[in-house]
Amino acid sequence: MKKVLILEDEVSIRSFVVINLKRAGYETIEAGCGMEALEKLQEHPDIGVAILDIMLPDIDGFEVCRNIRASNKSIGIIMLTARTQEMDKVTGLMTGADDYVTKPFSPAELTARIDALYRRVGGVESDPEIIVHEPFTLNIRNRTLEKDGRRIKLTQVEYAIIQLFMQNPGRALSREDILTTVWGRDYNGELKIVDVNIRRLRIKIEDNTANPTYITTVWGFGYKWGI
Ligand code: CA
Repeated sequence: MKKVLILEDEVSIRSFVVINLKRAGYETIEAGCGMEALEKLQEHPDIGVAILDIMLPDIDGFEVCRNIRASNKSIGIIMLTARTQEMDKVTGLMTGADDYVTKPFSPAELTARIDALYRRVGGVESDPEIIVHEPFTLNIRNRTLEKDGRRIKLTQVEYAIIQLFMQNPGRALSREDILTTVWGRDYNGELKIVDVNIRRLRIKIEDNTANPTYITTVWGFGYKWGI
């Protein structure tokens, strides 16, 4: 099982991260202060990714990062930065972090970053299970869609349409393509079912349904993800 260290002194944030990482299939090791994090890393040399908060009761996250990097070049490190601390990103990357996530973050965003880092660390490329097209995050493993970090409730058919779009950004998909992929080759229904579902999807995901910008119409042909 892939192990992730979470260094965060705020218990509520730490538990929130832990619950979501466990759900995503990671084993989690927790630390509430910098020294504890360094000890846990020694106890578990197989930790692949470490998530480091910056403001901590003892040594800060940058110091922890420097300490880890001094002896471990291969572990992936993600800094948790506050939105008000723009400089943290730069400092974090200077001290050897690979990536940073700004608080408040959505669980899907953090999981996507860890997945990406784990693939880099592990050197194993696999099909992405998370597709991010701001403001949307599609989680193929859980079959869920989030917009700005908020879950959008979709039917299975709507989900299948969105997945098809997000896997083919910018590509014009004919209504026949969508019907065959989503409903299957043997489906005998009318093409109109595609339009009905698109209309419903737009109500759920577009900022302005009168002027859709995510699912756009390709006149006389079908639909496209993006403008
Ligand atoms: Ca903190």
